[in-house]
Amino acid sequence: MSLIKPSPTIAITDAANKLKGEGKKICVLAAGEPDFDTPDHIKNAAVQAINEGKTKYTAVDGTRELKEAIIKKLERDNELKYEPNQICVGSGAKQVLFNLFMATINPGDEVIIPAPYWVSYIDMSKITKKTKWLVINSPNNPTGAVYTHNELRDISKVLLEHSHVNIVTDDIYEHIIYDEKFFTIAQVEPKLYDRVFIVNGVSKAYAMTGWRIGYVAGKNDIVKAISTLQSQSTSNPNSIAQAAATEALNGDHGFLKERTETFKNRRDFMVEKLSSAPGLSVSVPQGAFYLFVSCEGILGKKTKNGKVINNDLDFTEYLLEDYLVAVVPGVAFGMENFIRISYAASHEQLEIGCNSIIKACQECL
Ligand code: PLP
Repeated sequence: MSLIKPSPTIAITDAANKLKGEGKKICVLAAGEPDFDTPDHIKNAAVQAINEGKTKYTAVDGTRELKEAIIKKLERDNELKYEPNQICVGSGAKQVLFNLFMATINPGDEVIIPAPYWVSYIDMSKITKKTKWLVINSPNNPTGAVYTHNELRDISKVLLEHSHVNIVTDDIYEHIIYDEKFFTIAQVEPKLYDRVFIVNGVSKAYAMTGWRIGYVAGKNDIVKAISTLQSQSTSNPNSIAQAAATEALNGDHGFLKERTETFKNRRDFMVEKLSSAPGLSVSVPQGAFYLFVSCEGILGKKTKNGKVINNDLDFTEYLLEDYLVAVVPGVAFGMENFIRISYAASHEQLEIGCNSIIKACQECL
């Protein structure tokens, strides 16, 4: 445990809650979840599951109905075919990722996680004999960057030369995408099919973060190992949440378009507003619901209280304490001197937050 550092995200949330406890109105733009509610037809499926007595243990790796819904989804959205024994459902994408790494990584193995900054071809040259996994996350948290078809094809070319490297693709923001079309790497390069493990879930697209359902699809041997690990730790994910997730994947998707449009409008609003903040540099994200903003131009400046802002941690502290806006420091994502601003919040909150951030930038000298 001594090797695990407390998360800077939690530090910000704790500080924001402390200030809220003191009666201060904090504008929280730190959330990693949609501010929308879970759609009614999904909630109703859960109520129905309770009334029908679907309240018992299920198969460890997920109900037959949910696995079938996942298989249909992967064929419908991603043009990929899977069998039920290639799917394992867990309590959120996070648990699935944890189990996947736990089940496969041995001392000395290497995992490549590109720094959260557009396409990192440089990281590809980091492949060694010990490399076990390359992790891909597009649309990306925290940058909102999206890999295009061409970029995924280029990455595939490198991976085809290194057959010992498997790929985890975290597709959790698949449906929250604006001007680009979503592709997952196994769809772009079918020769990688056996080496790609797709991780996805219902948290972001269906506003179901609290329900805790995620899944992995890939070659049976590793998926089976993940399921074995799960069988000796948490057992099956919640039976009622599985029924709700089945409805989410099989049911009406009309609301997705509408919600994505709302996120896009918010993105455009945020980008335009924050572009006028002196010292900040904003790029336009193509997906997810975050802006990853460089605060390099702020470094070295002094706050009204005479405190020097030396890095992103100082800047987020300044924003929170002096301007009552909570955002996440880039260092939490392995990238210093950036801040992550979530726009999964109401227009009113976004306006308050942007105005405060702009003021904070203007008032440090
Ligand atoms: N992957 C990414 C990139 C995320 O941003 C998150 C949540 O913030 C997750 C996975 C976790 O998703 P889940 O709620 O399914 O555990």
